Amino acid sequence: VVKTSGKMSYRFFDRQYHDSIRARIDRKAELRHALDADQLILYYQPRVEVATGETCSMEALVRWAHPTRGILEPIDFIPLAEETGLIVPLGEIVIDKVCAQIACWSRQAQPVVPVSINVSPRQFNESDVTTVLRKALLRHGVAPALVEIELTESSMTADNVHVARSLENMQRLGIALAVDDFGTGYSSLSQLQRLDFDVLKVDKAFTAELEKTREGSVFFTAIITMAHALGMRVVAEGVETAGQARQLKQLDCDELQGYFISLPLPATETQPVLARCVL
Ligand code: C2E
Ligand code: MG
Ligand code: MG
Ligand code: MG
Repeated sequence: VVKTSGKMSYRFFDRQYHDSIRARIDRKAELRHALDADQLILYYQPRVEVATGETCSMEALVRWAHPTRGILEPIDFIPLAEETGLIVPLGEIVIDKVCAQIACWSRQAQPVVPVSINVSPRQFNESDVTTVLRKALLRHGVAPALVEIELTESSMTADNVHVARSLENMQRLGIALAVDDFGTGYSSLSQLQRLDFDVLKVDKAFTAELEKTREGSVFFTAIITMAHALGMRVVAEGVETAGQARQLKQLDCDELQGYFISLPLPATETQPVLARCVL
């Protein structure tokens, strides 16, 4: 009896295992198809400068306009893209679309602000992102100062000489570099100094603490002091309330990003936010 049930459960497990591999292959093929069929779109979320109250840049956030499931958010497909390596072609599409969009706004004589692009570690390790960017900028006639690259801390941990060199090359082209989700990873502070980042984006977890605990503002104060001493601008992510915005202003934070300022918007809806003071 024991033997039989053991065998059965083994078979059951086995089938599940095959099903999950099957499902993964299907999902990968579907994402591959989405790239080829041009189903990716970009939303843009404004970043506002505290000093002026004006939108000073925007972050490009990818979405999958799925034919049957609606607009999918990164959480639904970026992890799969990372695991399967599709993040490399996906990232190239995002870079091209951002440059095309900036060129389009310029042609329409609309106000243009720099756009920041999220780049994942695998893109650095498996492709020459700097060359991809340089070519896209040239192709669309966009100035390097109009794009910024966002990297999470995990991309630059391990003394990765390759990544460090890519980043230096980008900066030499005139592309600004930002650390994304700061405070959640494992980067050493010396790494920050060595790589000479322009912008520090503090993770929304810290912003959420501001109105909850005293320690919340203690951490922000320390981060801002350090970042300013290193010559970096500080962006608070995930600003959702007027109270958080007020505190961040008092703490000398440079820029705010979050639902309190604006949701991520389709490219056709960003102009009103660029035209007026938001804060
Ligand atoms: P991220 O780069 O940290 O982007 C900020 C995320 O926070 C966005 O989620 C944004 O919609 C969300 N957010 C903005 N304001 C608020 C707020 O006030 N409260 C809360 N709770 N959330 C807010 P989204 O668009 O779902 O993107 C999630 C992550 O996916 C991004 O985090 C980024 O790591 C990744 N991602 C997005 N687009 C790309 C891309 O083109 N390439 C790569 N490699 N990763 C991307
Ligand atoms: Mg980001
Ligand atoms: Mg972030
Ligand atoms: Mg984040």
